[in-house]
Amino acid sequence: MRGIRRWFPLFPVCTIALAFATGAAGYTLNYTLPASGGCPVPTRFSTVTAIAREWSTSLPVSPQTIFTVAAPGTSQQITEIQQTIETAFSAWTGVTGTTLNATTYPDALAPLGDTSTQDACANDQESNLTGEDTICFNQSSTAFTPGVLAFTRVFAATAPGQTLGSTTSSFAGQILEADILVRNDGQVTFATPGALASNPSSYDLESVLIHEMGHFFGLEHSPIWRAVMTPFAPPPGTYFGERPTATEPDAPLADDDRTGLRVLYPDPNDTTDVGVITGRVLPANPLSLAGLQATAAGEYVSGIFGANVVAVDANTGQVMAGALSGWSCSSASAAPVFDGTYTIERLPLGRTYNLYIEPLDGLFTPADIGGGGLNLCSTTSATPCTAPPVNADFVPHVRPAG
Ligand SMILES: [Zn+2]
Repeated sequence: MRGIRRWFPLFPVCTIALAFATGAAGYTLNYTLPASGGCPVPTRFSTVTAIAREWSTSLPVSPQTIFTVAAPGTSQQITEIQQTIETAFSAWTGVTGTTLNATTYPDALAPLGDTSTQDACANDQESNLTGEDTICFNQSSTAFTPGVLAFTRVFAATAPGQTLGSTTSSFAGQILEADILVRNDGQVTFATPGALASNPSSYDLESVLIHEMGHFFGLEHSPIWRAVMTPFAPPPGTYFGERPTATEPDAPLADDDRTGLRVLYPDPNDTTDVGVITGRVLPANPLSLAGLQATAAGEYVSGIFGANVVAVDANTGQVMAGALSGWSCSSASAAPVFDGTYTIERLPLGRTYNLYIEPLDGLFTPADIGGGGLNLCSTTSATPCTAPPVNADFVPHVRPAG
């Protein structure tokens, strides 16, 4: 569809990864390159009106892939799954300091509707885009390659005035439709929290949905293993972190997830989470970048692209957030330059932070963020540029403070 970008953020199964995870980097955003060119913008919903949501109550029967406490085919089963979806959304809307949560904004999410249509989500040909944001448990897709539990398709406008269904974009990067598809071929199965213990070979449906909803709202994968946006699923029969509660609906999230959401949907009345750390990651020897300097559009690479810069609370040791280094724009109409700039936004004030930096050379690879290019550039854009490959070949050194 013209003017619409698409992504396939995946959720591969890689349970062994957890034993070796080093914990690094941080929230990463999905970016949209405006049709007019210039600086990439984060991909996100408008919160001026409520986000329309629905789910398809069509469930695989043979083989059964969704296990619940309630018996298959009953209204109680539908209620149980709907409750799991609602709770998963609450993990994100429960984050303070965002317009998804702020009382001065309209309800961020419209009531969760349902449909009996089996293939209610966008299909592989994009031919059934509706502008509805739908969750499907029984729609087949060629994107269910081995290891993929679920994925989210996000369709975002590249300019104001683009329409999908009943939604017309008011800015480039505005999400017009986001659909979550959960694998339905029986290669893997899922269980609601109540049914997980009695189905130990099933994946925790709540965890899978919370992760996919991070993509739904505009986040990419995070290499911080505690973050729900890490690309690795909890092993079957388990879940990470805490279950959500009525008083702490966002308990499953890590601070990195919360910070990423605040960057996308900042509450203008939030006076706490407004700290910014910014700088550049530069090589000690600029000549070490020589192999990266000749990009297709001829621009210069003057800093490290794709380093993980992580802000850690100096008093608690807690990872608060991270971001990938690498680029900046001199103005909204200018293409990015690859100067090693990083910016970690929406950090709580009144704390002391330590930064650490590391290359994407561990379990989390450039492929986990769409190959590392992050939709920052296009050679056919009005302001063409080419993102350099992620630089995973450097050794950070600590410089003492002072
Ligand atoms: Zn994912």
